[in-house]
Amino acid sequence: MSLDENFRGGQGQVIEAETFRDSVGTMDQSGKRKWVYPRKPKGRYTNYRTVVAWLLLAIFFVLPFIKINGNPFLLINLVDRQFFIAGQPFYLQDFFILALGAITSIVFIILFTVVFGRIFCGWICPQTIFLEMIFRKIDYLIEGDRNKQMKLDRQEWNAEKIWKRSLKWFIFIIISLIITHWMFMYIIGYQGVFDMVKEGPLNNFTSFLVMIIFTAAFYFTFAWFREQVCTLVCPYGRLQGVLIDKQTINVYYDFKRGENRSKWRKGEDRRAAGKGDCIDCNQCVVVCPTGIDIRDGQQLECVNCTACIDACDEVMVKVGLPTGLIRYATEDEIEKEDTFRFTGRMKAYSVVLLLLVGFLGFLLSSRGAMEAKFIKPAGSTFFVRDGEINNTYNYTFLNKSNEDQLVTIKVISPAHGQITLSGTNKILLKKDQMTKGTVNISFPENEIKLSKQNVTIGVYNQKGELLDSFDTYFEGPFKLQF
Ligand code: SF4
Ligand code: SF4
Repeated sequence: MSLDENFRGGQGQVIEAETFRDSVGTMDQSGKRKWVYPRKPKGRYTNYRTVVAWLLLAIFFVLPFIKINGNPFLLINLVDRQFFIAGQPFYLQDFFILALGAITSIVFIILFTVVFGRIFCGWICPQTIFLEMIFRKIDYLIEGDRNKQMKLDRQEWNAEKIWKRSLKWFIFIIISLIITHWMFMYIIGYQGVFDMVKEGPLNNFTSFLVMIIFTAAFYFTFAWFREQVCTLVCPYGRLQGVLIDKQTINVYYDFKRGENRSKWRKGEDRRAAGKGDCIDCNQCVVVCPTGIDIRDGQQLECVNCTACIDACDEVMVKVGLPTGLIRYATEDEIEKEDTFRFTGRMKAYSVVLLLLVGFLGFLLSSRGAMEAKFIKPAGSTFFVRDGEINNTYNYTFLNKSNEDQLVTIKVISPAHGQITLSGTNKILLKKDQMTKGTVNISFPENEIKLSKQNVTIGVYNQKGELLDSFDTYFEGPFKLQF
């Protein structure tokens, strides 16, 4: 019997099949928001998730201060087009690598979701971590658990309610401000943020406004919008419908074991009475931060937070039944008692991912430490001096290495080309920086046979190693060819 059939044909308090999919768990029939007051979760998975969350929060708050070879570990400055990933500088010229990296990440997320469903949402997503591990904990601390929160919500705006709500909202604003400042450190670096704070808002008015907008957005999200980000807005959540299948691991209610659900009666032989293991205590529902009933089957609103697993396990232990009535499983595992299989779909995504990772690795390893360009200024042509034909080029050098480089320029082909730089033919390239200038290239008149001749210019380091070369053309006087 399938999950849907079970709901259609089961006995007892089984809801009508699929009607729950006609509405969102956090809205009533008129479309009005139903505020969710989840009971404070506790148990094995909650403990694991707490450890993971604090680890990730520590990384979030420490990472902006970590440097590798003097470079920030992670910096995504879209305004100044400065990108550092794992301490490595990336430039607009590396756009192809960054785009391929983004595509590889998307394929990885797809594969991860096909195998593990929405585990990312419950364990790693910043929205869940900030909401469940920081903001919700402040709710519990100031207003108490579910019942106390509901009572406070219903009561008049008396001194207690005003005091508790003001304190909570004030703390929410402070935390939103902190998150915004840290987020900015990933864009302009921690020193940039410290400098702005030191200089004050009036000296950085535009940045100040942007910070206020982001702080307000975070406050709105975590104080009010909350689980609706996951259930209504998040595109990743919406993708679940096409990514997960019956072989995907997700939080599932074992309906075969749980139905026919029925209230607990001490000393009753539930098997003999034709009752399932679900004692219909509703604990898995009241603990759910997205306000759904996992017993209705897999739903897009489920963020795999595991709170219902812990709640149900606690109940099962109390009534002396085996734990795992709600657990991580695949739908096939519950329905057909199939063990997990690495399906053809998963294999196909894995092959694509491996190919992409290989290609990305190749591009990264072959990415030179220097990039050189020699472009002729618009409208420029050749000139003759002392029996030599000269062309002028504007050069642009991008030093992608982690150290300053002293370089020289040489003509690789054709031979006999001379480089003339004002002063010495040695250019200092600061690390992670672009250096621009002008250079003359000259050839003896008799060497230039064509009005447009291909030339290759090389840039060498002090050890004589070629760092990069550039193919361009050299102009000379028009000569009739016979
Ligand atoms: S159904 Fe369970 S795992 Fe899913 S969001 Fe609700 S409590 Fe979390
Ligand atoms: S917590 Fe477990 S026993 Fe209680 S209603 Fe949910 S599934 Fe049934």
